[in-house]
Amino acid sequence: MIEERKTKIIATIGPALLQANVLRQVLPYIGAFRFNFSHLNESKVEQIFSQLREILGMQLEDIPVAFIADLRGREIRSEAVTFTLQQGEEVLFKKKTKEELELLEPSPMRKAGSLLIKKPQIIGIDHGFLYNLVEPGQRITADDGELIFSVKAIEQKAVRVVVEKGGVLKSHKAINVPGHDLKLPMHSKEDKRSLRYIAKQRFNWVAASFVNDADDIAEVRSFLKKQGSSLPIIAKIESNLAVKNIDEIIDAAEGVMVARGDLGENFADEDVPVIQELVLKKAREKGRVNIIATQMLDSMIENPRPKRAEATDVAQSSRLRADAVMLSGETAIGKHPGAAIKVMHRILCASEKYWTSNILQEYKSKTDIMPICRAALQLASASAVRHVITVTKRGKSAVLLSSFRPDITCIVAGMNKELVQRSYLYYAISPISIKETTEKDKRFAEILQNLRKVRRLKKGETVIFLYAYPFFMKKSTNTIRLLEV
Ligand code: PEP
Repeated sequence: MIEERKTKIIATIGPALLQANVLRQVLPYIGAFRFNFSHLNESKVEQIFSQLREILGMQLEDIPVAFIADLRGREIRSEAVTFTLQQGEEVLFKKKTKEELELLEPSPMRKAGSLLIKKPQIIGIDHGFLYNLVEPGQRITADDGELIFSVKAIEQKAVRVVVEKGGVLKSHKAINVPGHDLKLPMHSKEDKRSLRYIAKQRFNWVAASFVNDADDIAEVRSFLKKQGSSLPIIAKIESNLAVKNIDEIIDAAEGVMVARGDLGENFADEDVPVIQELVLKKAREKGRVNIIATQMLDSMIENPRPKRAEATDVAQSSRLRADAVMLSGETAIGKHPGAAIKVMHRILCASEKYWTSNILQEYKSKTDIMPICRAALQLASASAVRHVITVTKRGKSAVLLSSFRPDITCIVAGMNKELVQRSYLYYAISPISIKETTEKDKRFAEILQNLRKVRRLKKGETVIFLYAYPFFMKKSTNTIRLLEV
């Protein structure tokens, strides 16, 4: 049996994770799948859905993880070609026409008489106005700073740059202008298409990239609403404005993600850990989901073991009591997706034992059922109960219990499968699906039987039930009951 853990692991879906032997083995360790719409379109997602059904032998709604759709947002990406770039070389960033993209790039070397004249490589980007957004002397980075350029000149709807730090620019990598929030519309045509699709599919969360303020969250929400969807929104914190407007963003969204890849392009290296801690603390105090993302076990894309500093980063994320830590390339395209997930699991388990949580005093948000959730956890702690079980209709008690960062696991028993699946992302929450019934004893019996079956409960163990009574009377959580198993 896999050790119980409170901090959740988000695994970005990609070919590495979608190998049958890998996925079947690591599924129980995963809290959420992340679908990165910067690299996916509808037909690719459909293909992934059918691979998941086939490999796991389950319908999507029965897979015990949350599904996160990560929108692309205000972002410029390079074309689907790999370039090798040398320091000192000049290249042009330009939106290529469809014809140019379809044609193979002419050789960068062209003969003129007996001389070899180097023609600048043209790197296609998917935004037509970068030349309007930058000035000579400015820096441009690609792939979270793996490649660095300086702008030399603006010419004919293109940006001529000199390569300062060369390397391999892989397909579809993010292009940033560090320190400058690009004035792009919140949603591109592709994002709107993705959102329309996401709203109708089996997703539980939408992550909105490059949000700058609460209006951006409202825009996503109203777009989803028009599609008939009320999916909760995770605001990815990665721009200067997002950090400046963090309070209003946290108020407007259901969650935040410290997206350290792009954040690290817009802020100095030394600022990122401080921003991370600040965002997490503020989000937790308001009962919002909080996620730490990017480069957590980056070296495991290539190597079977992490660096010591990476292991420490994962452990520190647990100490900061993030809801979840995210793997990106490690599980999407890495050579060791299974090992990365298992190592992350072991580090989190070890850290959680060492740094106990339970922050009943720190939580500031006031909602109607907060006192009863707090009371259930206090009772559990005073009577050494290991499991609090909340029977939830709208998931409110799940969010609240999790926000207290309890040092025991809370079971969320829900009748709504979407809500159950969504709850896999919450810290210390272990969701289970139950059938509709108005008879309370039948319901308790079903839950207990379910938990005994997966060997979560010991005979004679006392558990705490938290529920709204009478059932189906539109009551909020109002009852705490101690029960012996
Ligand atoms: C990030 O920038 O850290 C991030 C998570 O976003 P993306 O992977 O979409 O660039």
